[in-house]
Amino acid sequence: MAIASSGIGTADIETASAYDVERVRADFPLLRQTIEGQPVAYLDNAATTQKPQAVIDALVRFYTEDCSNIHRSVHRLGERATEQYEAARGKVRTFLNAASEREIVFVRGTTEGINLVAQSFRSRLAAGDEVLITGLEHHSNIVPWQLACEATGANLKVAPLNEKGEVDLDAYRGLLGSRTKITAFAHISNALGTVNPIEEMIRAAHAQGVPVLVDGAQAAPHLPLDVRALDCEFYAISGHKMYGPTGIGALYGKEKWLERLPPWQGGGDMIRSVTFEKTTYNELPYKFEAGTPNIAGTIGLGAACDYLQALGRERIARYEQTLLAYGTELLCGVPGLRMVGTAAEKAGVLSFTMAGVHPHDVGTVLDSLGVAVRAGHHCAQPVMDRFAIPATTRASLGLYNTRAELDRLAAGLRRVGEMFR
Ligand SMILES: *Cc1c(COP(=O)(O)O)cnc(C)c1O
Repeated sequence: MAIASSGIGTADIETASAYDVERVRADFPLLRQTIEGQPVAYLDNAATTQKPQAVIDALVRFYTEDCSNIHRSVHRLGERATEQYEAARGKVRTFLNAASEREIVFVRGTTEGINLVAQSFRSRLAAGDEVLITGLEHHSNIVPWQLACEATGANLKVAPLNEKGEVDLDAYRGLLGSRTKITAFAHISNALGTVNPIEEMIRAAHAQGVPVLVDGAQAAPHLPLDVRALDCEFYAISGHKMYGPTGIGALYGKEKWLERLPPWQGGGDMIRSVTFEKTTYNELPYKFEAGTPNIAGTIGLGAACDYLQALGRERIARYEQTLLAYGTELLCGVPGLRMVGTAAEKAGVLSFTMAGVHPHDVGTVLDSLGVAVRAGHHCAQPVMDRFAIPATTRASLGLYNTRAELDRLAAGLRRVGEMFR
């Protein structure tokens, strides 16, 4: 599919044409690969996604034509690199609909974005204060807060999940209070696929004057996003989960909050002036970007934003919903299979157990059939504990997956059932 990489406005381009998944697949060179004589059925998108040619080209172009360090360069390679790096910031701003590029900080990924906020927030936490998260968080939205709490004497509070893997909203509201200094939760759970009602959760937090961080790692590839409409204080995304490169992501922060928080890493580029007596910090967003960043990755992330915008995030979401419904029905017909995570609002994640078979064995048999899934706790051990299981097998969907691939998954699972009977 020919996706223009420039001139795309704020609105996703919606065409009347049906979603042509074969044309989309042609954009992803890795998908042409065969495993055991079959085209690879890549169903591990919640761990990382494959990259379209446009993203690969952006990386190669930077290294072959424009490679240079950014900011304060007197030569034209440096100017070109800086221009492209800052243009990528504009693309991420548009992608999230942030008010200003000053609100977009480049980081290594969602993990680093959350660590930035959790670390900087220590200056605002004291003994007895509370940080509120939920029971479905990825480890990267648990551990940074535990570290902040340990360092300050604050307490970590956790809103529980119901049997379907949804956050208990009443419990969540009940845990918000005058001691709550910040709340952080996933937009979409990587382990269960649950889409949190984040608009309601943000409103509830704001009613108590509590700032909100949203872990958007799983939402960025699946949903149209608008941080201004959401009104959250912080929103973190990872490039590699949204068809962009690894090692790059972005943290959105409301300007007022980014101004308020102290820097968390010191080094080049984040300063205005340095003497041994005193250092003054650079303006936003550079205050939070110490050292030479992942320049190529940033440009690649910009290309991934362009790609998703051009394909149309509404269309992608609609297509993935039909795939999810198809896959759910198929898998529920597999003998011995139990779905884990059955929220009313779900994104493309099929997490399950098979009676009497270890998830790793399920994954290994599927791999021998050219079907790539993940087995384990998915960096969400508390979610596994909640359902009293050590692990699940997880098939996670992306914009290039097909019904035929889900048919192969289901056939493979029937085979697993027969092998281990
Ligand atoms: C992948 C993921 C993260 C961590 O992202 P990194 O890119 O590994 O930093 C955090 N939260 C969720 C929900 C994720 O899926």
